[in-house]
Amino acid sequence: MPVITLKAGREKSLIRLHPWIFSGAIDRIEGDPAAGAVVDVYTDDGVLIGHGGYSPASQIPVRMWSFAPEDTIDRKFLQQRLSTAIDFRSALPSLPVTACRLINAESDGMPGLIVDRYGEFLVCQFLACTVEAFKQEIVELLQELTDCQGIYERSDVSVRSKENLPPAAGVLAGSEPPELIAITEHGRQYHVDIRTGQKTGFYLDQRDNRTYLAALAEGKSVLNCFSYTGGFAIAALTGGATDVTNIDTSATVLELGRRNVELNELPSERVTDVKGDVFEVLRKYRDSRRSFDVIVLDPPRFAESKMRLPQASRGYKDINLLALKLLQPGGLLLTYSCSGHVAPDLFQKIVSDAALDADRVVQIIDRHAQPGDHPIALTFPEGQYLKGLVCRAK
Ligand code: SAH
Repeated sequence: MPVITLKAGREKSLIRLHPWIFSGAIDRIEGDPAAGAVVDVYTDDGVLIGHGGYSPASQIPVRMWSFAPEDTIDRKFLQQRLSTAIDFRSALPSLPVTACRLINAESDGMPGLIVDRYGEFLVCQFLACTVEAFKQEIVELLQELTDCQGIYERSDVSVRSKENLPPAAGVLAGSEPPELIAITEHGRQYHVDIRTGQKTGFYLDQRDNRTYLAALAEGKSVLNCFSYTGGFAIAALTGGATDVTNIDTSATVLELGRRNVELNELPSERVTDVKGDVFEVLRKYRDSRRSFDVIVLDPPRFAESKMRLPQASRGYKDINLLALKLLQPGGLLLTYSCSGHVAPDLFQKIVSDAALDADRVVQIIDRHAQPGDHPIALTFPEGQYLKGLVCRAK
């Protein structure tokens, strides 16, 4: 077994069971491990800490599989990790739904692996060498552990390049998925395009927050910014919203959103789709003094790295400021950030600055987060990325 020895004193985060080893913590690598090989990790004074997966090109050359020296990283080990993750989800209170995250990477002890279920099909992302090396075993085990018809890969994402892995997409096992898969989420239905949709096809992480919107939408005019395929729009309409305005830069997702309105047999005349940049459209609405009872801001990840935090913070402040200006007195802003680098207290500070500049008196009436099928291992705080504030403006 190849061996990685840490520099003196660099085992601290590992003793706290954090799964990442950064390149600066490594003293020496012996045994010439290939990409994805399992390595034994030792402290400077020769204590075996556990086993990890090796990635020579990455800033994180080792992701830990296990902190138990006696473990062997084999099919049985993977089977246990996968089945534990899959089993606990079936007992979650907010499920069953026909789509949910089955494997949430590091937080489920499967570093770099995302598996989402959409009806009879699974969609996987292999984001690190750790799991890429075991792809065949993982696919076979997923087939055994679920009664899925097919497994589709959507590893066509840029983070793979950090691991020196090429993008990859296509059928991994079973049958070819249909063009669109219809899923049900708390009574709402959505068409999901797992081949070309964003992420694995749908933003499953906002499920409970969409249900929250449905519960307060009766009689309200709703502005749904960064609408994607209408996740929040369908929730607002099923909750009785008088009208919903969707804004997204992509015509393709707005079109699928239209089809989702039809799928749910909701009144399409209540929906207005605006293809455009939220930053620009909100400015136009401000200048023309438009207002809404409820505004949803669910932007893409603005802070892709720590370095981009200043620009990202300005972006979040800008849209929150504009949105608060468009809110009716007593109106609600559901505002989200899915940037892991933006901590919840920083996000709250940004929204607070936005409220001051918008000259609105604002109360937080609820806090939102990712649901239980997107768990956060306590030893891996990086797993917490989605945060939301429900704000009421006087
Ligand atoms: N709320 C959605 C998910 C939003 S994902 C749901 O519940 O399903 C973010 C969306 O923002 C994507 O559809 C992307 O096309 C869109 N987007 C990204 N930048 C944008 C911009 N500047 N203006 C408008 N839409 C944008």
